[in-house]
Amino acid sequence: MNCNLAVIKGDGIGPEIVTEAMNVLDAVGEKFGHTFSYEQILMGGASIDVHGKPLTEEALEIARNSDAVLMGSIGGNTSTSPWYQLPANLRPEAGLLALRKSLGLFANIRPAYLYEELKKACPLRDEIIGDGFDMVIMRELTGGLYFGERHTEEVDGIKVATDTLTYSEDEIRRIAIKAFDIARKRKKHVISVDKANVLDSSRLWRSVVEEVAKGYEDVTYEHMLVDNCAMQLVNNPKQFDVILTENMFGDILSDEASMITGSIGMLSSASLAEGKFGLYEPSHGSAPDIAGQDIANPIATILSVAMMLRYSFDLDEEANAVEQAVKEVLADGYRTVDIMSDGMKQVGCKEMGQLIIEKIK
Ligand code: NAD
Repeated sequence: MNCNLAVIKGDGIGPEIVTEAMNVLDAVGEKFGHTFSYEQILMGGASIDVHGKPLTEEALEIARNSDAVLMGSIGGNTSTSPWYQLPANLRPEAGLLALRKSLGLFANIRPAYLYEELKKACPLRDEIIGDGFDMVIMRELTGGLYFGERHTEEVDGIKVATDTLTYSEDEIRRIAIKAFDIARKRKKHVISVDKANVLDSSRLWRSVVEEVAKGYEDVTYEHMLVDNCAMQLVNNPKQFDVILTENMFGDILSDEASMITGSIGMLSSASLAEGKFGLYEPSHGSAPDIAGQDIANPIATILSVAMMLRYSFDLDEEANAVEQAVKEVLADGYRTVDIMSDGMKQVGCKEMGQLIIEKIK
């Protein structure tokens, strides 16, 4: 298979971790007889430095014409970087929001999986962890509060800011279908998270999820209020298989879920459009505090490549080979600094990438 990828190395540790992910893809290509070609584009701070804006139309066009997009992470230190002195629409994150919207990336999937070898890094007590947990969070990505009308005005001398949360039934239906489809390939259970006791948008969300669920008799489902879900994630994470939720709730809950796995440097993410197109990136940010030191953990980005192989190219065997290689390297005791523990062997970003490649070969 020939796969044409647009690659956004991004800011901070982005270039280091994406380089390792590309090396892994090349190793997969060599072993299984595929060709991956890469066209690099700028986004975020790197694009601001060169073009004065976080995403150009030319870069967007290259992404649009690719088979899938591989991305590091974008942004800098939000307190000290000059990128954050710019108006909101010219800051690094504006590029990512525009890219998601233009490419129709409405479904974000973030797995939260507890590796046996990293159990000690999990902040939860042993009796809560039990034999581990394995969930995915399906977050709606192009609607809701982050994309609604917003403005700040002065009313009787007092500043008032307004954000609006809007969802159409079509937007809810298409993400619910993706969640039920994914549940079918897993433990067949969806928990749809909302705030239906308060919000109209959540009441519509609930009714559309119920309608979609009728087409999936083999998948069980339930509704859960978002505040309860935040508690349940740390109280009984084993109950979750697929969490389906809207944009802002998903933003917060997926960070909470990643924390309980013990390392944000391990968690991948996929943002999918209709059909097979997707953007694949780690769940973490650009970690400017450790950039350029060859200590970043590349595993989240490498596991994102596994998701790309599975979801965009239907290369399940190749995806399994990448995931298996990661497990074996961890079982051999190799760790980057963020997941280091007593008795393990500490390695840098490049070495971790190389170890995973050796296992794939
Ligand atoms: P962060 O995820 O970049 O870092 C949080 C902490 O985790 C830091 O101590 C960092 O060193 C560590 N860390 C993160 N990834 C790691 C890895 N792979 N290996 C080892 N340690 C790792 O979050 P932040 O500091 O809040 O944000 C930094 C920048 O990233 C901000 O500009 C933010 O807006 C941006 N950001 C971008 C994305 C994205 O591109 N999708 C997502 C989240 C944050």
